[in-house]
Amino acid sequence: MPETTITTALEFLEKQLNRSLATALEVCARCGICAEACHYYVADPDPKHVPAYRGEQLRSICLRNHNFLGKVFPRWVKAADLDETMLERLAEIAFSECTLCRCCTFNCPLGVDTPLMMRAVRGMATAAGKAPEMLVMLADAAIEKGKAIEGGKAESGPDQECRCQDCGGGL
Ligand code: SF4
Ligand code: SF4
Repeated sequence: MPETTITTALEFLEKQLNRSLATALEVCARCGICAEACHYYVADPDPKHVPAYRGEQLRSICLRNHNFLGKVFPRWVKAADLDETMLERLAEIAFSECTLCRCCTFNCPLGVDTPLMMRAVRGMATAAGKAPEMLVMLADAAIEKGKAIEGGKAESGPDQECRCQDCGGGL
């Protein structure tokens, strides 16, 4: 993967890193209570499906780039560099192993916002061209359809009358 792709993903993360996301990354107590709240974990009780584990992956990237110890002694604080394998794994976690349902947040005693972290990861993966192809195609189609609808409205002009029975031709 070109270095620029990793840079793009990190730059996107940088833009997303507001107070809410920083808090979500900071406050997890690793108690594991959220595990049973996640339907992925209930269906397949693998540690990788614990919501806190998902957050931990993004946390390790942030520590590497924003924490003094993470920069100097990454192994001490479990900081990790973002590389191709890591980015692909993150994309898989965020797109295929989390529906952003928020059940984990509601069941977390500290209210850790794992879906917020997963949204940030989805953005990173999309910016770096790692979003699932089908989703990208659907998004592009929706954007094109939106443009067509907007174009149609502009062409019809402001004084074209609506013939539906609901609005009485007022539109
Ligand atoms: S996300 Fe919340 S419930 Fe899950 S391990 Fe962290 S503090 Fe515990
Ligand atoms: S938001 Fe994601 S991690 Fe949290 S319970 Fe839902 S699917 Fe699981």
